[in-house]
Amino acid sequence: MKLLPLALLLLLFACSPSAPNSETKPEEATLPAPLAPPTSPAPAPPPPDTLPEPAITNPDAPAIPSQAYLTGKFDPIKHPDFVKVAAKYTDGDPYVLHHDTYAGFEAMYAAAKADGVKLVIVSATRNFKRQKQIWEAKWKGQRLLEGKEKANEVYPKPADRARAILRYSSMPGTSRHHWGTDLDLNALNNKYFKLGEGKKVYDWLTDNAATYGFCQPYTPKGIERPQGYEEERWHWSYLPIATQLTNYAVSQMKDADIAGFAGAEAAPEINVIKNYVLGINTECL
Ligand SMILES: [Zn+2]
Repeated sequence: MKLLPLALLLLLFACSPSAPNSETKPEEATLPAPLAPPTSPAPAPPPPDTLPEPAITNPDAPAIPSQAYLTGKFDPIKHPDFVKVAAKYTDGDPYVLHHDTYAGFEAMYAAAKADGVKLVIVSATRNFKRQKQIWEAKWKGQRLLEGKEKANEVYPKPADRARAILRYSSMPGTSRHHWGTDLDLNALNNKYFKLGEGKKVYDWLTDNAATYGFCQPYTPKGIERPQGYEEERWHWSYLPIATQLTNYAVSQMKDADIAGFAGAEAAPEINVIKNYVLGINTECL
């Protein structure tokens, strides 16, 4: 009974001129197959890697880059890419940074320390809400400009008042401090960095910060940087993250998007995106 089908198969293949012996094993048709038969179901294919990312619905974790992230409209303490800064690096206040910025800073801090220079973080991430408090206090004259002027009295026109505040403070929604990439070091005072210990710190930073990814965006104004904030020797930006955000601002941000605080109506007249967000040291682009 069992011999007949096998004999028949052997006869059929023997008659086939195109059947190469090395690849035709007719007995496999009747013996248990050592391998999975070709008709068995194929394993499920892996999901394609082109599926769109699910939309981020958590307002505390906007994507990098995105308009919400760039304008600081999130709580950095709740953002998964942010970490708390250890107290040994700071002036004692609590700060958070993007974790890549923090790693870059830690490396720079250790190198500076080895050279006898102590870096101290005196400001880091500030979101839209915090910047709005600072801006509106100055806009309404509750906080004096550079310790001497009530902006609301000295500058009645919105554009003039905005420009005066913008010498050192950002409009809410336009600060690099929203990004988790920027920090202020040692003292908010250019004079400190011109003599003694401060000069030693600044000279070290200008020689070495780039090695660790940091750049000073607000260099002295002049031919190279005709617009924007005044010089800030204390403000340093972590370019591996900040550059993509600057590029996003170039292509996506408009003055009309800057809104939601007292004085926002001045943003288009002073071209806040072009002159301030993008008015930076070209080495930081
Ligand atoms: Zn700063």
